[in-house]
Amino acid sequence: MKKIEKKVSRIGVLTSGGDAPGMNAAIRAVVRTGIYNELEVHGIMRGYQGLIEDDIMKLESRSVANIIQRGGTILKTARCKEFYDYEGRKKGYENLKKRGIDAMIIIGGDGSFRGAVKFSQEFNIPCIGIAGTIDKDIYGTDFTIGFDTAVNTAVEAIDKIRDTMDAHDRIFVIEVMGRDAGYIALHSGIATGAENILIPERKTDIDALVTGLQETKKRKKLVNLIVVAEGENFGGADEVQRKILKEIPTAEIRVCILGHIQRGGSPSCLDRLIASRMGYHSVECLIEGRYNVFVGIMNNKMHYIPLENAVKTKGKIGDEWLKIVKILAS
Ligand code: ADP
Repeated sequence: MKKIEKKVSRIGVLTSGGDAPGMNAAIRAVVRTGIYNELEVHGIMRGYQGLIEDDIMKLESRSVANIIQRGGTILKTARCKEFYDYEGRKKGYENLKKRGIDAMIIIGGDGSFRGAVKFSQEFNIPCIGIAGTIDKDIYGTDFTIGFDTAVNTAVEAIDKIRDTMDAHDRIFVIEVMGRDAGYIALHSGIATGAENILIPERKTDIDALVTGLQETKKRKKLVNLIVVAEGENFGGADEVQRKILKEIPTAEIRVCILGHIQRGGSPSCLDRLIASRMGYHSVECLIEGRYNVFVGIMNNKMHYIPLENAVKTKGKIGDEWLKIVKILAS
């Protein structure tokens, strides 16, 4: 990997794009590893918006006390339109220059990394990315911060729904997050014994689903759990319910959309661990001159992937997963 010689002494850290539980643990790791290595660390509020508006403050070790267990992000996050334009990014650069900040750590998703690539190329500011997204859909890493917590929140909620569903012999269609990726649906669905899991990576065969429900009804299997990712291609949980009712008018069917509860809450142990490791290694990257990469973990080893290669993993869910769903729910 290309190494650029440029010693950094004052770094900025921000969280950008969709929030994910565990971002605070990553901020804490960046701040404390930076200070340990005698770097000054500055927190940039509301992602690239705060960079452009010069909403930046120096962080001390104590500034990040008691946050490892908290969801959300103390630096707040935002989507920033101005940063898509060169003029916006230039304003951001001028603020960094004024404050003597010579490198940045960006905690966010692939969109935030794309912004960082442009910024680093235009203004020669080394940037390091930390993958924070509940969707786990970034190529080059087995883990992203927030996924484990989100999926456990979904499992807890679905378990509760299953109790009431079982008491009434109902079909439940539960929609979980995942606009482009079905990992939350797949993992939470398998872990809760779902009969059907509908994900964006596969074309939904709604007729097969309805036929399956009719057959299970004959076999007196009256409880049916269908977990749907929000980006599923038939039209989401409401459409699936409508279609089932059209074909089986007597079906007792309810829809539940889990929504934003999946983004919140105290991060799981795993998310705190990977956030701490990634935060620590992101600072190490800057010290070693390993610039413009994002920090990933593969096969339990740190991986450094060029920021410009940060893309969403698409269609990467193997057929075996769905075979397991079918066999185990029969
Ligand atoms: P995520 O990082 O979670 O994927 P977004 O895709 O919304 O979220 O990106 C977060 C922010 O990163 C955007 O609001 C914008 O400020 C910046 N960004 C994303 N893509 C680009 C791009 N191609 N050029 C410049 N900035 C970008």
